[in-house]
Amino acid sequence: MSITSNCKLIPLHLSLLPNPNPNPKLPFPNPNSPPLSPPKLLSIRCAKRSQRTGKYRYPSEKRKLKSRQQTQIDVPQKFEGFWRLSKLGVSVHRDPGKDFLDVSDALLEEIAKVLEFPVASMLPPEAFSVVRKSFDARKSLKEPKFVYTVDMDVIKLLDLEPRTWDFISRLEPKVGLIEHMLDERVSGDIINVIHDYRRIYNGVVSNEGGHIQLRESFKYPATKKPKVAVVGSGPSGLFASLVLAELGADITLIERGQAVEQRGRDIGALVVRRILQLESNFCFGEGGAGTWSDGKLVTRIGRNSSSVLAVMKTLVHFGAPKNILVDGKPHLGTDRLVPLLRNFRQHLQGLGVNIRFGTRVDDLLVENGSVVGVKISDSSNYLKFDSQKLGCDAVVLAVGHSARDIYQMLLSHDMNLCPKDFSVGLRIEHPQELINSIQYSGLATEVRSGRGKVPVADYKVVKYINGDDLDTTFNPGTVRHGCYSFCMCPGGQCAEKLESHS
Ligand SMILES: Cc1cc2nc3c(=O)[nH]c(=O)nc-3n(C[C@H](O)[C@H](O)[C@H](O)COP(=O)(O)OP(=O)(O)OC[C@H]3O[C@@H](n4cnc5c(N)ncnc54)[C@H](O)[C@@H]3O)c2cc1C
Repeated sequence: MSITSNCKLIPLHLSLLPNPNPNPKLPFPNPNSPPLSPPKLLSIRCAKRSQRTGKYRYPSEKRKLKSRQQTQIDVPQKFEGFWRLSKLGVSVHRDPGKDFLDVSDALLEEIAKVLEFPVASMLPPEAFSVVRKSFDARKSLKEPKFVYTVDMDVIKLLDLEPRTWDFISRLEPKVGLIEHMLDERVSGDIINVIHDYRRIYNGVVSNEGGHIQLRESFKYPATKKPKVAVVGSGPSGLFASLVLAELGADITLIERGQAVEQRGRDIGALVVRRILQLESNFCFGEGGAGTWSDGKLVTRIGRNSSSVLAVMKTLVHFGAPKNILVDGKPHLGTDRLVPLLRNFRQHLQGLGVNIRFGTRVDDLLVENGSVVGVKISDSSNYLKFDSQKLGCDAVVLAVGHSARDIYQMLLSHDMNLCPKDFSVGLRIEHPQELINSIQYSGLATEVRSGRGKVPVADYKVVKYINGDDLDTTFNPGTVRHGCYSFCMCPGGQCAEKLESHS
């Protein structure tokens, strides 16, 4: 529990408050005396739940935690699914370094410690896989360390070391450290997931009784394939096309910009000769807005979740390095994105997707209140006099932030649009060495321009602004806003993000 001042929550009037009437003879403050400043209230505010640990937990929280810890898992269940071990810290001196993503001896010792397993060398490393590895150099720690999340495959463990049976049968979850996960992990990328789904639901195999058995041969459904126009080939449009095409839909992917090869040349002309192609630039073209960027794979929706992992695995399928599956701060880079996008395109074409680069959607075709297609034109033609109609059963608009013409068009159809919070960009530049030395002190020499044992240092600025801090005249009803720095780009350069001459 902490005591804070200037807080409007649960005001508690204590004897510490200044007396509003300093002259006890007068029933009211003396009008001639200087005006009193309003009393400063002392209020008591409870620490956030995340800060209440150990003996500071409320009794109700302690009871809840105890009952959760005591939740016994049936012994047979312990051998199903897998066990996830989190917050395994290996000191930087004992770890092989940022690029090593397997299970080292030092990590095995940490695993044994958290599992309370007596002999680390008895644990076969093959039974463990690293799910996440990040570097923690916060000053509050005794020493910088690599922090791991690791999955334990019990079947493999028993296979390789049957003497662990007794130990597993006694193993219990520990909040935040050991978690038993019954759900099957995503074994593959989105393509595999869809193939498995189709095999099971279309009759190639059946998983009845938990066993996958071969059934009659695979048949495409006899019904007509739905015709879908996907507008935009950024991440959203590409993945929408992939999923729909893998599920058997007839897809036309429409992109106003150019394929990555031509787009690269157009961006080169913009940067070097300052010639802007209105429809093929940093924002428009195959791969979407982030293609000519640092390629940071930023997500705030649960990095270890099955859906995020399936997307990451799909990127690996198309040529991304495998370490993006494990890195705490995964990152691709434009040089890798270009061949990846080419592979993605070839896969889509192999599925029969009709990709139309240099084609812009100008309008929706609407009949009786339903969208029945799109109006398209050659994107090099701004007068739109060669518009063609493309009929379809559904339209996916995956047009990104920069397609202002599309949002105008939607408004003209009386479409209900809901604005997102506005993000304002701010650039801060400083030498990489400065950040390394501030964050890592003596360890900064280990960075070696990204080729060393520890990752290039970065930082993040996050601030939550309460309703109290905001001017409510302009923000009625606003309660809480988050301000955060988006990403850092070590060794990056500034580029003009133009999409119009104006
Ligand atoms: C310079 C820059 C750097 C970035 N760096 C990162 C990063 O490192 N990491 C990260 O996570 N995010 C980054 N982002 C953000 C990221 O790019 C976006 O979140 C992401 O691209 C959004 O994907 P999207 O598919 O929704 O839209 P977009 O990527 O914007 O794709 C929309 C596509 O639709 C096409 N289109 C638009 N209108 C039409 C039309 N009328 N007809 C046909 N086609 C149309 C466009 O040409 C475009 O290709 C960056 C963004 C920019 C601009």
